[in-house]
Amino acid sequence: MSDSTPIFEVRGLRVAIEGKEILRGVDLTIERGKVHALMGRNGSGKSTLAYVALGHPSYEVLEGQILYNGTDVTELNTDERARLGMFLAFQYPMAIPGVTVSKFMHSALKARAENGDVQLREFRDKLNAAMDLLGVDKSFTGRYVNDGFSGGEKKRLEILQMFMLDPTFCILDETDSGLDIDALKTVAEGVNATRSEERSHLVITHYQRLLNYIAPDVVHVMMDGQIARTGGPELALQLEENGYEWLEDELLQAAGA
Ligand code: ADP
Ligand code: MG
Repeated sequence: MSDSTPIFEVRGLRVAIEGKEILRGVDLTIERGKVHALMGRNGSGKSTLAYVALGHPSYEVLEGQILYNGTDVTELNTDERARLGMFLAFQYPMAIPGVTVSKFMHSALKARAENGDVQLREFRDKLNAAMDLLGVDKSFTGRYVNDGFSGGEKKRLEILQMFMLDPTFCILDETDSGLDIDALKTVAEGVNATRSEERSHLVITHYQRLLNYIAPDVVHVMMDGQIARTGGPELALQLEENGYEWLEDELLQAAGA
């Protein structure tokens, strides 16, 4: 694989859920070592793209391709994509009462290991290091996964998983509302700490606010199931200042309406 092969690429992607077409021809290329932001109004299809990138079984790919490191992963199961190095931090992480964070993380790492095993000592050292880096209290590991977690704690666990699984392509789906500033900073720290020439991130956010902490290389705006505009960091600032109407008006004018 040459270094110029994009880490993630979506070509002409059309996706439906329950018979309703949500993504209506998405093209997106993310080069190695880049942080891309995906912005857009609620309901524009951002989470759909995140889910379908990781192979959520409820979504039907009508047309198009999803490539990871040059490999067509469109037909692969989620676990296969994860093993290749893809990762998704959920917008709404699920609670798993009865399963501790520690047990959950160990199982996830074992599932991904080639020989199906991860030494407990090695695992604990890695987990402790990740928690130190994130400033997570050690009592965290004994709690049940997301059970009674605050919004900020849920985000911290998503980022902890990202640290532990060491993926090459990370999609972070942001909560649209009620995300406190600490949670925001946790996500930003997670992205900034894992930024490298070998890894890329797609940061999904409704608001420009998160991008005060993460400087994206590229910004995309999704509208009505399509990437309506791609630009640099200034695009996010323009949206912050003028809202989404400005872009909608411009696109309407360009369409000759
Ligand atoms: P965003 O993340 O940008 O807010 P989503 O991808 O969550 O947007 O949703 C895009 C569209 O898909 C919305 O119109 C939403 O109502 C619809 N949608 C999402 N999930 C389902 C579902 N399970 N069944 C039917 N429609 C859905
Ligand atoms: Mg969403």
